[in-house]
Amino acid sequence: MKEQIDTLPVNEAFESGDECPFCVLERQSEQRALRYVIGPGASYMEPDVRAATDSKGFCRQHFKRLYDYGNSLGNALVMQTYFVGLQKELENEIEGLELPGKRGLFSKKPQEEMSILQWAERKTGSCFLCDRLEYNMDRYYTTFFYLIKDGEFRKKAENCKGFCMHHFTELLQQARTKLPNGQIEWFYETVCALMKENLARVQGDLDWFIDKFDYRNASAPWKNSKDAVSRSMQKLQGGYPADPPFKQD
Ligand SMILES: [Zn+2]
Ligand SMILES: [Zn+2]
Repeated sequence: MKEQIDTLPVNEAFESGDECPFCVLERQSEQRALRYVIGPGASYMEPDVRAATDSKGFCRQHFKRLYDYGNSLGNALVMQTYFVGLQKELENEIEGLELPGKRGLFSKKPQEEMSILQWAERKTGSCFLCDRLEYNMDRYYTTFFYLIKDGEFRKKAENCKGFCMHHFTELLQQARTKLPNGQIEWFYETVCALMKENLARVQGDLDWFIDKFDYRNASAPWKNSKDAVSRSMQKLQGGYPADPPFKQD
């Protein structure tokens, strides 16, 4: 095994019994990244980290995560320098602003893209935490496709509970470049079978959750259905709707 590939987290995720091993890895990775950005190590005070957050900013979802994490002063400092750069750039955009030509009433031709629009889209469309997550997930997929050459890991994968639709999609995308030649058949057969079997299982849990509201089933056991709503949501789009906010210790 190559030293530079850390296989432990992927192995553990596939042993976790979760609805999706890649959701497990994504949650770990996101919490680690949050702690890194705004946590006790105070890396937001390091010039190179600040330069990166100043350049990329954060998306809406990750501002929510940063807010929930709870380091208000840290968040304020990170945003302060971002605001300075943002306003400087806006000033430049306004200076170079060229109004688009008026369209004729019946012209179907779209207006030429204005550079200020492209700038604004770029500013709101990038996120330091999303980039970090994407980088880490990419490495986990690489590790997965490396590990499936090993029979023992393949057995582990065959016994997992499948994947959420979000990570199933990513797995198929990643397979286009990372799937080893010798495992093509195994991969598609196993992954498709896992999806089929486990979507049906989760739907069964959801069905029983609904049936439990029938008064005739009031005293019947919940079986695996108590958390069927959150697990179904995870199965459909990934993530953990029932998770409490991730906060600083
Ligand atoms: Zn997932
Ligand atoms: Zn983000």
